Amino acid sequence: MRYLSTRGQAAPRDFEAVLLAGLAEDGGLFLPETWPELSPAEWRALRGLPYAELAARLIHPFAGPALGFEDLSRMTAAAYAGFGHPAVAPLVQLDARCFALELFHGPTLAFKDMAMQLLGRLFDHVLARRGERITIVGATSGDTGSAAIEACRDRANLDVVILHPEGRTSEVQRRQMTTVLSPNVANLAVEGDFDTCQDLVKAMFNDAPFRAEMRLAAVNSINWARVAAQIPYYAYAAMALGAPDRPVAFSVPTGNFGNVLAAWAVRRMGLPVERLIIGANRNNILARWLDANDMSIRPVEPSLSPSMDIQVSSNFERLLFELLGRDGAATAAQMQRFRAEGRMPVPDAAWRAATGLFRGFTLDDPGTLAEIRHLWTSAGYLADPHTAIGTAAARAHAPADRAIPVVVAATAHPAKFPDAVEEATGRRPPSARAPRRPI
Ligand SMILES: *Cc1c(COP(=O)(O)O)cnc(C)c1O
Repeated sequence: MRYLSTRGQAAPRDFEAVLLAGLAEDGGLFLPETWPELSPAEWRALRGLPYAELAARLIHPFAGPALGFEDLSRMTAAAYAGFGHPAVAPLVQLDARCFALELFHGPTLAFKDMAMQLLGRLFDHVLARRGERITIVGATSGDTGSAAIEACRDRANLDVVILHPEGRTSEVQRRQMTTVLSPNVANLAVEGDFDTCQDLVKAMFNDAPFRAEMRLAAVNSINWARVAAQIPYYAYAAMALGAPDRPVAFSVPTGNFGNVLAAWAVRRMGLPVERLIIGANRNNILARWLDANDMSIRPVEPSLSPSMDIQVSSNFERLLFELLGRDGAATAAQMQRFRAEGRMPVPDAAWRAATGLFRGFTLDDPGTLAEIRHLWTSAGYLADPHTAIGTAAARAHAPADRAIPVVVAATAHPAKFPDAVEEATGRRPPSARAPRRPI
């Protein structure tokens, strides 16, 4: 598979180059030159596979042919072997049609592990073969950093440097990052918010001599390999509920737009995804955009769901590129305007096309606590604040056809945000069963 930049100015690359580069040199994000599409019969043949095997089958079209299927299968097997649930990403039914897809059974208890555990192995594999060493630099609002550190610690061919906004991550997140004492791990607490951290990382990547000297690589969701590694769980859930012979909807608590983009990709690859619901806290730039084509940056405000305290959703650029008919020059012009003016009116036809598939939903902190309480009293389910925004969004925007199940991406374990859960339910979530150490 070859990759294009969303800004149209970078030379096409293969998967390995995209994995190592992160951001394209024209400032754009990489996307596959063509989307692999599977027929209904091909999807049916994948039903019932164990998670790691399904992951290898679905990621291989993006990673091959340079990366062999055998090597990839070995890496997916190792990546998910350490998860705390034998299904890796189990589905839990919450009511008549709503399901939680639990993506938090990895070592740092948030969905970032689903991609990052594989990424760490992909990096090490490729670098060992090339005899090279890189520095991974990332910005985090909490979960990416700990997942990256956990995936990269003690790996032979990488150093990892993570920037987090001081005082804006949860205590569990802070400790998960800063208590890993491996010599190849460094943490930086930055005065500012997540966007400040992300801007610093982007500036480092845009400084070509520095980038080359440090051999910088990214593990933020701008790295295509991360999005690719998130595709299998949407297919896994959809097929468990009857796809390709039954449509499904997904509700995704959203920050940087990486997770929901993977759900969009599954639809592009041929599964019947009827609707994509985007849950937001008060930092709701995407929900405002879907409501009224108002894509305008406001200051980031802290919330009970800190991993979604983001105003500039980097991966939106990938959707924009697709909505604009893969026109790199038009995408670049839109993004430059957004950067300069803090707002971007998306062309009407593109916005309308998006609103046919996506719905946006906003929930403030009191609403989030009420939803956590509701899930506990109605279903006996303890949800973290991010997941709760997803379930409330699912109820608000479920398709009219009641035969269509709605799958909510349950993005963090409740034990990762115990204070909010206790405030809402009066119950301190039991700490997660310690996942087995990855082998
Ligand atoms: C990262 C994160 C999100 C947001 O995911 P994006 O891919 O950035 O949209 C939501 N919930 C949790 C718990 C997260 O860690």
